[in-house]
Amino acid sequence: MKECPECGSDKIIRDVKLVDHGDNNATYNQTAVVYEKPDALIFKTAVKTALRAEACGGCGFVQSYLVDPKRLWFAYVSRPSHVE
Ligand SMILES: [Zn+2]
Repeated sequence: MKECPECGSDKIIRDVKLVDHGDNNATYNQTAVVYEKPDALIFKTAVKTALRAEACGGCGFVQSYLVDPKRLWFAYVSRPSHVE
């Protein structure tokens, strides 16, 4: 983003990492997951990509992006279609 959609500030921090903290203060990069076969009992085939974020240094608004959006899109559209 070029400027904050919330407050209009141009103080954009472009390389914010989204991490979770685990035991012993270990950090884990957050990931986004799409399941190729969401209805399967096992072997749902998780396709993952990391997240990156930009944040506003004025009001704190955060916008996150998939690092590899094509990968998740492909998994999404390649799901077997099922009848509702
Ligand atoms: Zn802002």
